[in-house]
Amino acid sequence: MSRPSPDHHTPAAPAASSGRPRLSIPGSGLAKGLAVTLRTMTRKTVTQQYPDAQPELPPRTRGVIGLFEENCTVCMLCARECPDWCIYIDSHKETVPPAAPGGRERSRNVLDRFAIDFSLCMYCGICIEVCPFDALFWSPEFEYAETDIHELTHERDKLREWMWTVPAPPALDPAAEEPKEIAAARKTAEKLSAAARAESTEPESTGPLSTRPESTGPQSTGPESTGPESTGPEGGDA
Ligand code: SF4
Ligand code: SF4
Repeated sequence: MSRPSPDHHTPAAPAASSGRPRLSIPGSGLAKGLAVTLRTMTRKTVTQQYPDAQPELPPRTRGVIGLFEENCTVCMLCARECPDWCIYIDSHKETVPPAAPGGRERSRNVLDRFAIDFSLCMYCGICIEVCPFDALFWSPEFEYAETDIHELTHERDKLREWMWTVPAPPALDPAAEEPKEIAAARKTAEKLSAAARAESTEPESTGPLSTRPESTGPQSTGPESTGPESTGPEGGDA
């Protein structure tokens, strides 16, 4: 059995456990309390007298979610990824006629209902992150407390109203690359304007009515000149 080394010190036992009563100066507790009061009186106040004083919130505060319905394709990603399952979407399919004659009909989703239950939402922002079509945005508005919990389910009209309180995106860094969405939109606009210019100059030079029937119609090279009658048995019996 090993013995403790001589330089191993055990902590001193508290005075109360040693059996000796603690000495207290009368009024020392009161003095300590007053000292704390004096110290905190001189500090900056951190509480705010809301609602008399409005809080100064950062512009990107997660207050409420706005829906920009025109961008929503009813892909359901947000509803599937929401950890609280508090996004409710209903839709139906609609057939769209073909864009050009002879094309195929297409079907598209039409939004019937989009609602978010803010009594369940935990403001994680996953729905906004996963939306591939930029249809959901944070708004800093937070004053929508209700006495009836059902009123905290905001339907699409209410979500659209929140959209108008979404702050504008921050300005781009002057040295930043052009965003790919803007570059793609610019290229599409250039292509469309080039196609429109080409269309406006086409009819005068290459119109189909001015050149077709007389020069290349089937009548001019018909059976009279190359048909089987001209090389029939009379000329080919050798
Ligand atoms: S913020 Fe989070 S919890 Fe709230 S609706 Fe979006 S995904 Fe769901
Ligand atoms: S992820 Fe975006 S586009 Fe898809 S259903 Fe949700 S809001 Fe609409």
